[in-house]
Amino acid sequence: MKKTLTTVPLTSPALCPSRRESFLPFVSPLIGEEEIAEVIDTLRSGWLTTGPKTRRFEEQFREYVGARHAIAVNSCTSALHLALTVLGVGRGDEVIVPTFTFCATANVVAHLGARPVLVDVDQDFNVKPEAIEAAITPRTKAIMPVHLSGQACDLEAILAIAARHHLPVVEDAAHAVGATYRGKKIGTFGKITAFSFYATKNLTAGEGGMITTDDDQLAQRMRLLSLHGMNCDAWNRHSASGSWYYEVTEAGFKNNMSDLQASLGIHQLRKLDAFIATRTNYAQRFTAAFSAIPEIEPPVIHPHRQHAWHLYILRLKLERLRIDRAQFIEELRSRQIGTSVHFIPVHLQPFYQQTFGYRRGDFPNAEHLYERIISLPLYPPND
Ligand SMILES: *Cc1c(COP(=O)(O)O)cnc(C)c1O
Repeated sequence: MKKTLTTVPLTSPALCPSRRESFLPFVSPLIGEEEIAEVIDTLRSGWLTTGPKTRRFEEQFREYVGARHAIAVNSCTSALHLALTVLGVGRGDEVIVPTFTFCATANVVAHLGARPVLVDVDQDFNVKPEAIEAAITPRTKAIMPVHLSGQACDLEAILAIAARHHLPVVEDAAHAVGATYRGKKIGTFGKITAFSFYATKNLTAGEGGMITTDDDQLAQRMRLLSLHGMNCDAWNRHSASGSWYYEVTEAGFKNNMSDLQASLGIHQLRKLDAFIATRTNYAQRFTAAFSAIPEIEPPVIHPHRQHAWHLYILRLKLERLRIDRAQFIEELRSRQIGTSVHFIPVHLQPFYQQTFGYRRGDFPNAEHLYERIISLPLYPPND
């Protein structure tokens, strides 16, 4: 991986190199000896589920982001679901979600019996603030922007719209751990922010997620709901000073993170800035190499937003090509390069068409992008 990337000259002939000898997977996690040793330490400690390591990971994450609270959970999907739950989203409500995202962003709205009001995106893959404002109705309960690919949305515009309409913003920051907007880390802007530590994400715990918020009451309730609605977790019950007694104050969920996951997270967080620096370096090399090629477009970059570079999404200028996106992917595969597509717009998915009446043609920008996008491998090397 390292060898290939560092030997690519920044000129277009480099884009027709000889075939690689081994397959370059689209994604590969970078797990070091520190993570492995920490997992083994946890296995030997006699405590596997939510406990001291989860608390340490939360504390370190809270400090890294600069938020008042950080609550570790088992996925970003759970984080988003908890966020909407404590904001009171339910049957008959509407939540505004960009159509150009992973299905989880919209699924959690559907889980709560509410309607995901899908809106279109711009050339930078992020939600259009004007589209959010146009979609607000008396039933709107929340706005859920997604910092797609790891670059922050136009938060100033989105937060101004939210303030004008007295609506909370729940950020899907699954791609954006470590990203900044005007010098401040993502996780400190909206009412609640949700992060993902899924296997393919910039920081991985195998599976996992984190919620950040500055709101004491929402934080307390999300923590409670993340573990059955019990007012005392198992670590506090089973430790030397603990008590067996607990009260269930609400029918909560089962969303807690285990200390095994936190063992990975603690060390991944320490390495995160270095991971992002490598991703940024590769992304800049890609952009420098691709800018001279009229058939493809590198991603749109905004000033004053530090990109986390979770994804490098190339846009094909199909009008200038004789092959389509599927053939382009096949050509790369035949040259031993794995790629992916992020994302199939939510409104093209059968469930969203059948349940909410969305149709092809509803969101022209997202559909135009969808036919042209390819995500390239972009991750720190393993060797
Ligand atoms: C990965 C992802 C999620 C879901 O994350 P999990 O931790 O797997 O639940 C949500 N939104 C977006 C945009 C994602 O890419």
